[in-house]
Amino acid sequence: MRARDQLSARTVYMMGGVFILSQLANLIFMTYAYGGWTIDHWIACVVIGIIFVTTNLLRWSKNFNGFAIFYSALILASVAGTTIPDGTGINSAMLPVLVSAVFISGFVASGRVVAGYAICATALIWGLYMYSVGLPPPPGVPISDYHSRIFMRAMQATIALGLASAALGVFCYSLNTMFYLLEKNIERATSAELAKSNFLANMSHELRTPLNGVIGMMGLLKKTNLDATQNEYVDIVNGCSTGLVAIINDVLDLSKLDSGKYEFSHRAFDLRAVLESLISLHLPAAIKKNLRLALHWPDELPHRVISDESRLRQIANNLIGNAIKFTDQGHVDVIAQYRAIEGLQGDWMEFCLFVRDTGVGIPAEAADRVFKRFEQVDNRLSSSKPGTGLGLAITQSLVEKMGGRIQFQSALGEGTTFTVQLPLRYERPILQKDVLQPPMAPFLGVREAQA
Ligand code: ATP
Ligand code: MG
Repeated sequence: MRARDQLSARTVYMMGGVFILSQLANLIFMTYAYGGWTIDHWIACVVIGIIFVTTNLLRWSKNFNGFAIFYSALILASVAGTTIPDGTGINSAMLPVLVSAVFISGFVASGRVVAGYAICATALIWGLYMYSVGLPPPPGVPISDYHSRIFMRAMQATIALGLASAALGVFCYSLNTMFYLLEKNIERATSAELAKSNFLANMSHELRTPLNGVIGMMGLLKKTNLDATQNEYVDIVNGCSTGLVAIINDVLDLSKLDSGKYEFSHRAFDLRAVLESLISLHLPAAIKKNLRLALHWPDELPHRVISDESRLRQIANNLIGNAIKFTDQGHVDVIAQYRAIEGLQGDWMEFCLFVRDTGVGIPAEAADRVFKRFEQVDNRLSSSKPGTGLGLAITQSLVEKMGGRIQFQSALGEGTTFTVQLPLRYERPILQKDVLQPPMAPFLGVREAQA
């Protein structure tokens, strides 16, 4: 719904609510005053019903001008209907209501409706004046005094109405212009954002292809007879190209996530095997830094789940990669746990993945920047680490798109634990109880096990 329509809708709902409440209070007062149920009570009930129905009609019909006209007509009719039968005419206590009702049009509808109401209300004021001219003056008041008094009353009401309408007309015009500009700018910003995402997606895609060619050719070059220096140069080019492909992949992922083109393909796979392969993949880096890297997988937790394997791999890979990157001594533990999801039947579980390290930690003041794009926490201990600061932004987007959430706890200099909670479907129905303890024997990785 447009922002202007939202304001109009809220005004209609608020007016309807206040009107119904005031009429309910009126019912009580009338019962007290008249000493029982009268025809006026029935009229009030009918009016409540009409307001209730018309206000709710707004859900289907967004015709705000129509609503403003309806409410204005109701006010005009009720002023005319109460002042003429009881002979009060221009002296009616309803005159302030007649004047202030112009605000309805100002908030709900367009300037034209404001002008239309102002003309009708002015006509009614002067109609009431004409009607009052025909009435006998109150006892003791000379006819000339009476006429000038009602003329002044009609003039004052007209001036008040004119002032209110002019103010409301300007307000209404400015409000509509402001909303129009606002919506136009939002539209422009959204399409610019989309164009940027598409551009990034296309560029990343175009850059990736030749880069993969470079990496492939470097592989072939390495197999030829090269001396030690040439070998070193090839390795450097290879390292740079692989790093560049990783960055391009991250940018491509982010732009796809932004433009909503990211697709998840669900199929059954062995999640434990995925995590084990990641442990094996990161093990050389961990061994190089003398870190212990282990996977803890509870025996009761089934291995096979139905989800998007490559996205889950990407999420775990980013977190394990970070944990190793930002840990210089101690260990990195990857812990899988699960919890039953209340209300979800069958084989849905909440899968929890903890990636715990004994690394540099994240300073508390940087906590809200960790998941932001291109943000690397400016930490004295980690400033030398390479990276673009996209890993966690992508991880968070992926986790959220898969219906989960990611958070972390950290103590500076002591370590960090990232936690991913994700609703996951297991291939077969499982377990009823929560598992909170990791099993005793962790998976230590192929190479370490072999060593
Ligand atoms: P990229 O992942 O793009 O290669 P990056 O690892 O620096 O670069 P993110 O993964 O988004 O970027 O992480 C953002 C920042 O959060 C990191 O630069 C680092 O400062 C901090 N951070 C992330 N994980 C850890 C961790 N386990 N321990 C300490 N700091 C961390
Ligand atoms: Mg990272």
